[in-house]
Amino acid sequence: MNKAPNHPPTPPDESLRELQAKADRFDRFTSNVPAMLYDYIIDPQGVSHCLYCSAYSLELLGVPPAEFVEDMSKFWDMVHSEDLPDFQRADQEANRESDLFLMDVRAILPCGGEKWIRISSKRNPPVGDQPAIWSGYMIDISDTKKLERMLQEQASHDFLTGLGNRHYFHRYFQSELMRKERYPSHSVVLLLDLDHFKAINDHFGHDAGDYVLKAVSELVREQLRAIDIVARWGGEEFCILLPETAQAAARAVAERIRATVEQHQFNYQGLRIRVSTSIGMTALTARDERVEEVVRRADQALYQAKRDGRNRVACC
Ligand code: GH3
Ligand code: MG
Ligand code: MG
Repeated sequence: MNKAPNHPPTPPDESLRELQAKADRFDRFTSNVPAMLYDYIIDPQGVSHCLYCSAYSLELLGVPPAEFVEDMSKFWDMVHSEDLPDFQRADQEANRESDLFLMDVRAILPCGGEKWIRISSKRNPPVGDQPAIWSGYMIDISDTKKLERMLQEQASHDFLTGLGNRHYFHRYFQSELMRKERYPSHSVVLLLDLDHFKAINDHFGHDAGDYVLKAVSELVREQLRAIDIVARWGGEEFCILLPETAQAAARAVAERIRATVEQHQFNYQGLRIRVSTSIGMTALTARDERVEEVVRRADQALYQAKRDGRNRVACC
């Protein structure tokens, strides 16, 4: 009977062992890092080809890595159509002028839904006349984006009423003033201040006052069109921009708001509260360049309305 020779296994060559250790480390690393790691080249025709993609692509985008390696356009097809033009432009720019690419895009997932993805890659030093290899990663930044949106919302909106705040109004109004330079149009600003509001707080309490402020902001919003901008200007003051509105029409809107507030009975925890409002209005002129000067004019008109006895609209 032939017996297999019983030689002890040859110890692997040192460099082979090192190579194996490196390969193991690479595998462990690429399969555990919570990021999709990838290498790609852009061929002379400008088409991207994925050379390597880590297993995390399945968790991140719901696509197995082999599918991206086979056809990288699968990823481009997932990019949200609103983000795609910027993404393509940034990609071409990075390829022409830079060694770094960084961009956030929304990816539409094959199973439905979308994720915000941060894409970052770096060009490797070229080897001979081979196309340069770009190495990068993609990670899920949906939570960060959600927080970012929340902070943006908080920075531009009033917590009590949910209306835009002064910054918000300023931004829209300034762009309206710039637009007016190119396309002359009629726009009107209304500044609204509740009458004797301090007495409401004093008589019914601060919480009741808060309730009235919220309810008034809803009543005002209901009287406006979607293109109108309303913001809480300060304590019990609201500022309204009526774009594309002639003075007579704006006056009718202001009167409607005044009458609606006056006629409304606010009910807060069994308390019946009534309040009135004074409104200053001013139309934008060709000379207006700054938000402050227009609002100052509306404020003068408001002051006039107060002096004339409150619960009225005055024009300046
Ligand atoms: P006028 O008719 O002259 O405008 O009288 P007024 O009492 O409304 O004016 P005044 O400026 O003296 O008082 C404004 C009041 O608005 C005082 C302030 O406590 C109240 N106020 C400002 N912000 C808030 C708020 O967020 N909640 C409540 N409840 N009250 C507020
Ligand atoms: Mg007031
Ligand atoms: Mg006031």
